[in-house]
Amino acid sequence: MTPQIKNLQIIGKELAIAWSDGHESYLLLEDVRKACPCAVCNGEPDVLGRGEKPEVKHTSASFELDSYEMVGGYGWQPKWADGHSTGIFSVGYLRRLDPAATEA
Ligand SMILES: [Zn+2]
Repeated sequence: MTPQIKNLQIIGKELAIAWSDGHESYLLLEDVRKACPCAVCNGEPDVLGRGEKPEVKHTSASFELDSYEMVGGYGWQPKWADGHSTGIFSVGYLRRLDPAATEA
């Protein structure tokens, strides 16, 4: 079972997450943005399931967080300072972004 997010806050350039199992994650916002799971950042696969990962242009504003919201207990949706906000990170996906986290 995936641990739940107990607390989430931005500390400097990092996203700090306190998990329900006591683990704490500190993820660089830059790494989080580069892991954005949305279709714009990852490309839509064609009918044969082939997909080219598009060139994504990032600026320094791409790695700054404007705001965020929790989406229906399912995920975390950041709004980046460059206006990008289509990526929804599921709780399990966020957890896997932390290499120090134990397998859920
Ligand atoms: Zn994206």
